[in-house]
Formats: sequence, C-alpha cells, structure tokens
Amino acid sequence: MRNVALLGSTGSIGKQALEIARKFSDKVSIRTLSASVNADLLIRQALEFSPDCVVIVNEDLLHKVQSGLSGTDITVLTSAKGLVEAARWPGVDTLISAIVGSAGVRPTIAAMECGSRIALANKETLVVAGEIIMPLAERYGAEIIPIDSEHSAIFQCLQGEMSSAVDHLVLTASGGPFRDRDRASFSEITREETLKHPNWDMGDKITVDSATLMNKGLEVIEARWLFDLPADKIRVILHPQSIIHSMVTFCDGSVKAQLGMPDMKLPIQYALSYPDRWEGAFTAVPWTLIDSLEFEEPDTKTFPCLNHAYEALRAGGHAPAILNAANEVAVDLFLRGKIPFTEIPVLIEQVSMEDSGSGSVNIESLAESDAWARRRTTELSKVGSH
Ligand code: MG
Repeated sequence: MRNVALLGSTGSIGKQALEIARKFSDKVSIRTLSASVNADLLIRQALEFSPDCVVIVNEDLLHKVQSGLSGTDITVLTSAKGLVEAARWPGVDTLISAIVGSAGVRPTIAAMECGSRIALANKETLVVAGEIIMPLAERYGAEIIPIDSEHSAIFQCLQGEMSSAVDHLVLTASGGPFRDRDRASFSEITREETLKHPNWDMGDKITVDSATLMNKGLEVIEARWLFDLPADKIRVILHPQSIIHSMVTFCDGSVKAQLGMPDMKLPIQYALSYPDRWEGAFTAVPWTLIDSLEFEEPDTKTFPCLNHAYEALRAGGHAPAILNAANEVAVDLFLRGKIPFTEIPVLIEQVSMEDSGSGSVNIESLAESDAWARRRTTELSKVGSH
C-alpha cells in the first residue's frame, strides 16, 4: 500500500492522480491533500478520500474549508507551512508533488527527509534547486520517480541499463499550438489560442510554457539533475504527434524509446507502481491509424525560451532559479492580459542578463534570487512598451 501525500490535488495532475487512487483503492491510500485556492473541490475530494489532513494554502479560505469538513476528524491546515506539514505527515511514504512553481521545493525536501518516495510532477523543484535536492535524495535514500511524461519515458528506457552506457538523451516536444504559425503574427497571439494545446490536457501555466517552448527548456534542466548528464548530452527534437515520449541513445548507437498515447495517467501510475506495473485500461497506440511519426529541429529563433534555458543551465548557480521565477511572473502577466505573448521571452532574457546568478547555492540564497527575479520581472514589465 502506498500512503500518499498529494500536494496540488485540485490541478490537472492532482485530479488524474485521484482517478488512479480511486481505481487502485487496494494499492493507494490518500493521507493528505492540498489545494491553493479551489476550496470547493478540495472539500469534495476530502469527503470522498477521507485523508488525515488537508491544506488550503490561501489563508482567507481556511474557515470555508474548516466548516466544509466540520463533523469529520480531518485536520485542516493552511499556508506554505501547512504544505510542509502535509508532505511529512506521519505514515506518509510517497509524496506526489503536483503543485505549480517553486512553491514545491520546501515540501519536497521535507518529504525526502522522511525517506519518502517523491513522485515528481513539479519540475520547478529540480529546475530551481536540483543542486540541493539530488544530494539530499541520496543522503536520505529517497527515490525520485519523475511524472513528467518525457522524464518518465527516459526513466523507463534506463531500466536495466548502466548509466555509463548512455550517450545522450532526446527529449521530444510537441512544438505547441504555434509551431506552424506565421512569425509576423506572434504579437497578436491571445490567451485563448495559447491555452489550446494540440495533444495534452494540462494546467494553464504549463500550457503557456509549452507554447513558448520554455516547458521543454525547464525539462532539459530537470533531466540534467534527474539523470546526471551535462547540457550537451540532452537534446530536444520536435515530434508533433506526441507518441514517442522521449528516447535514450546508448554508446553503441542503439536507441530506446517509450511510446504511448498522450495520457498523463500512465506516468502518474508508473511513479506509484514502480518497479511493478499495474494493469490499466489505457488506450493502446492504434498503430495502423497513425499516418506518420514526424521529427524536426526546434526553431529557437521563433521560440528563444529554449535557448534561454540552456544558457541558464550552462551558467549554473542561481541562473536556473532566476530563469524560472522570471518565467513564472511573465506567464502570469500574460495570462492576466498585462503583456503580449512575445514579451515573455524578452522579459526572461532581460532579467537573466541583469544577474548572472553566480555564487554558491543554498535554500536561502535561492529564495532570495527567486524573490529578486519576481520583483524585477514585474518592474520591467511596467517600463516596457505596452
Ligand atoms: Mg513534459
């Protein structure tokens, strides 16, 4: 039985994780849940799954959740501190980290200190703090099993292989909704167009990241830490059908790929079942209905975020944290209609150039870099041309 702390239970990954918990109720027990602001859904989930504890991060909604769960013995917590408590709740042995952004770092560390398995959907944790997280995981014997579909694919391809036999990784990218769009019209891209991803059904933030290719850039940094390979051993190729989820090329030239229909439930379930596989009614690949599997180089002139991410990875130190924070703010500004789509990479580049991110890294210095980059991105967005 996996005893799960599910942080981010009302988001896209969280809801799909609960579908798996519902289906495998003999294998998965939900012990804690958390939501940022969706109190109504959190209450419904708590009443269905009877966890020991729930966290509503927004403190203004604490009373609402408390009254919604009155008459139960479920503990209700709030704030970022509550997330840390929920992550290391007694009896929990698995953290599903599905919250958005760098808020995932501290709860992940708390769960690792308890030796829990980390089923990691929150890529920002490794992007921001991979240099700290990976040694801690080793020290506490905490397994990190990626939920991100590309990294789950690579993780699966590496089973039974020696890491010294790996030549390079190939992360596949769908290219997002604007892959074939005329570059001249990029400044007119709307929020609604951006949120229509061709293959994957995901949360808003990651869907915008997919459209700018920043999602792939963050995934390159995530892969660097998960698989301990330098930037030049991690390549990106566009594959619009999203059937091949990623590949590993070995030193003898052999390539292993993991394929499947685009469905996040598969990597979520694997992160819980590993090293076993549980029966699941996932759609098999309908081979004869697939016309072709296409591949092309990413266009980093049109989508400069991918290069910005490689630059941050090569710079190291605080640079990935600065990149990530600038991106989180820029995406939020775009979603709120404050800046155009084309301003997202511009802001990230400006903020990244102001601070090279050098110096030794610890959790406090990362938090400072994160706060500075958020402030600076907001300031620069106001002096821009809009
Ligand atoms: Mg992914």
